Amino acid sequence: MNMRVPFESLDLGDAPGHQELIVTRRHKSGEMIEIPVACVTGPEPGPTFVVMSGMHAGEYSGVLAAQRLVRSVRPEDIKGRLIVIPVISTRAFMDRNMQLNPVDEKELHFQRPGNPDGTYSECLADTLFGIVSGASYLIDSHAGEMAQALLPWVPVPMIGPPVLRESSYNLALGFDVPYIEPRYDPATVPAFCLALIEAGVANVWVECGQQGVPAEKDIRIHLNGYLAALRTVGMLDGPPARPAQTVLRGRGKQINASESGVWHPAIREGDVVEQGQLLGRLTDYFGNVIEEFHAEARSLVLYYWSNPAINAARTPHGYNWHNGLVRLIELED
Ligand SMILES: [Zn+2]
Repeated sequence: MNMRVPFESLDLGDAPGHQELIVTRRHKSGEMIEIPVACVTGPEPGPTFVVMSGMHAGEYSGVLAAQRLVRSVRPEDIKGRLIVIPVISTRAFMDRNMQLNPVDEKELHFQRPGNPDGTYSECLADTLFGIVSGASYLIDSHAGEMAQALLPWVPVPMIGPPVLRESSYNLALGFDVPYIEPRYDPATVPAFCLALIEAGVANVWVECGQQGVPAEKDIRIHLNGYLAALRTVGMLDGPPARPAQTVLRGRGKQINASESGVWHPAIREGDVVEQGQLLGRLTDYFGNVIEEFHAEARSLVLYYWSNPAINAARTPHGYNWHNGLVRLIELED
């Protein structure tokens, strides 16, 4: 049985060792927030580094990688402190509730911390931020959801002072993914990441894995990326891995359906599509074509919704995920 600690009295202390606890907080609705937190503290001083996963409930490869990190890093191995949160959204995880929180149907990545008296997800964002915002570095593992086929890549928020940008960028360099994507426009960076940057926490989020399947190769990419980042900042000994990566600089573009229907994608993740190329067709229940979708520019397919059910009427809080079809990034010539 894990030790349960109320968020209001959380104190990880500074003694070397390995702690595992469940941080709890009661939302005003009566619903509980429960966040599993492992804390590995080395005998020598050093930075605090957070690895977290399971913000979205069906993105399992990072969850299993974070578990392996907890089980494999010993206090005597590290300088400073490693905090690992294998599953952030435990309520959604146990409900197998894709992308959105089941209590308020909000998307945690886009919630700004600082409003614990707001809805459940706002309180969750605030609680998570309270646990992680004292760190110097943070990696947040994501994947394609149960309904998404996704190409592995690492978006990097390139916001804030240059030294912080460089620290964030360096966290991405050890992931064995084909692409990294520096993002310079704050409008393209989720609110939770922006709050981390304002608190001085260098951070990236990693997209690797897909369709609710925790494949071994994807788990290893997450795990080896964490270890490389810990070596990069000097918390673990040894040279950090530096696999080949290509930098993406184009404009992101999401194709959404304006009507509900049955989706027939004509592309795969990782495809390069030319201007005018067919991306897929939306049909009615009988297979009659409602609409065809074509690429506006030469682009890389980062991910697409692999699940045929497309619901244009389900846009909780204006969030266009259940009518999403394809996510592209334009390629420069
Ligand atoms: Zn995610």
